[in-house]
Formats: sequence, structure tokens, C-alpha cells
Amino acid sequence: MPLPQPLAEHLGRVLTEKLHEPVQVRDARPVAGGSINDAFRLHTNAGEFFVKTNTADCYPSPFVSEERGLGILREAGALRVPEVLAQGEVDGTTFLLLEFIAQEEEDRDFQARFGRALARLHRSTNNSFGLGHDNYIGLLPQVNTPHKDWVEFLVQCRLEPLVKMARDNGRIHPGDTIRFERLYARLPALLPPEMPALLHGDLWKHNYLASANGEPVLIDPAVYYGHREMDLAMTKLFGGFDREFYEAYNNEEPLVPGWEERVELCNLYPLLVHLNLFGGSYADRVGSVLRKYV
Ligand code: ADP
Repeated sequence: MPLPQPLAEHLGRVLTEKLHEPVQVRDARPVAGGSINDAFRLHTNAGEFFVKTNTADCYPSPFVSEERGLGILREAGALRVPEVLAQGEVDGTTFLLLEFIAQEEEDRDFQARFGRALARLHRSTNNSFGLGHDNYIGLLPQVNTPHKDWVEFLVQCRLEPLVKMARDNGRIHPGDTIRFERLYARLPALLPPEMPALLHGDLWKHNYLASANGEPVLIDPAVYYGHREMDLAMTKLFGGFDREFYEAYNNEEPLVPGWEERVELCNLYPLLVHLNLFGGSYADRVGSVLRKYV
């Protein structure tokens, strides 16, 4: 879908106010790569900007929590995130207007730089798992009620709600619902204790950019304080991160040995997200992971 004209005009006015100079959107070119929203590269007389749009079907708008999430990551100071210029709604279309990040091919040291920076992000801690507000992962609501105990948080705020949603929509094999119940009881023995770590929360290869000066830039987060192996595991769900990334992470902030054997366990959450969003073969993937543990 093209960028609606009333929205283009609104964005021109927003930028005019922000930049204290008359700004007009000259052109909005669709950007591929997103999984949920429409995205555009805006060309204006004051430079380039990036805008994501969607219909105003979800309340509150996922862009409200995306703005907050980007702000939380920025404050941690470990990694660059795009500046948020505005978010809002025009004629039933919600939008998030961001600084445009010019991108470059990853250079030789990029993955190591990214791994180190992620480890530094994960040093940002909190007195409980969760967050002060709920947010979204993709278009699915993400409950962030604070818990002192990671396994309790994982079960009550991550796995149970999505298993229930999948069951209500007939998307999960009935036997797997029971396997999840058995898994919950085993989790304390399977997951090593960790401090709550500030997570990106949806860290797959299309949710970071390599900026023109070689900096890793985080986009499209689903932040919360969680077990840091959740972010590491997510990087492995669809691949795209190099050996250097994991080595540098481990040098900066060593992971508890055996973390690679826990990847599939941690990825039950993003698999359930995909199962609920897209259905299909994700039910089999969830089932085959469960059978390894239960
Ligand atoms: P979605 O929410 O639909 O998943 P993303 O936030 O992942 O959308 O953005 C879609 C694509 O747009 C990304 O894969 C990336 O290539 C590009 N992109 C995202 N944010 C920016 C930005 N601030 N500047 C330039 N390109 C961006």
C-alpha cells in the first residue's frame, strides 16, 4: 500500500515543527523486510526519514510500546537505536516516524562489535523480571507483570498465555498442551539462575541494522527484563549471526556453560509467537522441542 497522502502531509507538518524549518515529503518509497507493518523511506527537503504504518486495529497501538522500548534501549547506552521523531494516528492509520539509518555491508569486525555491545546491554539489570508496562511482540500482546523468579515469569507471562491462545484457536496438538504442563515443573532444574537482564526481546536478523559507520543498530524491540539466554537463543532461531558474535559476547560477559543446549528450550516462546501468528508447521516444531524435554 502506498503512504496515504493525508499522512504524508501530516508527517511534513510534524517534521516542520520538530526541525523548525518548512519540511515537505517529496517521495515515500516502500521498504521491504518487515514482517508486520508497511514501511517507507521518506525523502524530504530536509533529508531522509523512516516511517512504519499500520491500521489502527490494535489498542493501544504497538507503536506506542515500540517508542517506549526504543527509549529504554537508548537509555541503557550500549547500542545505538534510531531516534523516534513521532508516533500517532491519521485517518485510521497509525505511524511511527524514525530517524533514517543509512546502511552498509557488515565489515569484518561487525559481528564481534555487535556481540560485545549486546553483552553490555544485558548488564543493565532490574530488581525483577518483566517491565513496568505490557507491550507487544509483533502484533501479539506481551504481558510483563514483574516477577522475582525467572521461571515463574517465563511460565505465567510468556508460555501459558500463548499456549492458551494456541489451544483456543485449535493451533496446538492437544498432547502438547499437556506436555507444556509437565515442562513447567521441570524448568527450575533446566535453566540456570541469572539476574534480570535488559533484553531486545525479538532479536532476529532483520531486527538489527549495520549503519554506514559500522555501528550495530537495534530496531523493532519487544523489551523486558529477562533471562539473557532468551536473546541469544532468538538469534539462532532463523540464523544470520556469526561465530564471532557469540565469541565476543562470551568474552565480554561469559554465559553459563551449556547455554547452546538450552537454545531450543528458550525458543519455545518465539516459536509459540510464530505458531499463534502464522500457524502451519510451527505446531510440529513446538511439539518436537517439547518431546526432547518431556
Ligand atoms: P516490522 O515492524 O514490520 O517488522 P521493521 O521495524 O523490522 O518492520 O522494519 C522493516 C525494515 O525496514 C527493516 O528490516 C529494515 O531493513 C528497515 N528499517 C527499519 N528501521 C529503519 C530505520 N530507522 N532506518 C532505515 N531502515 C529501517
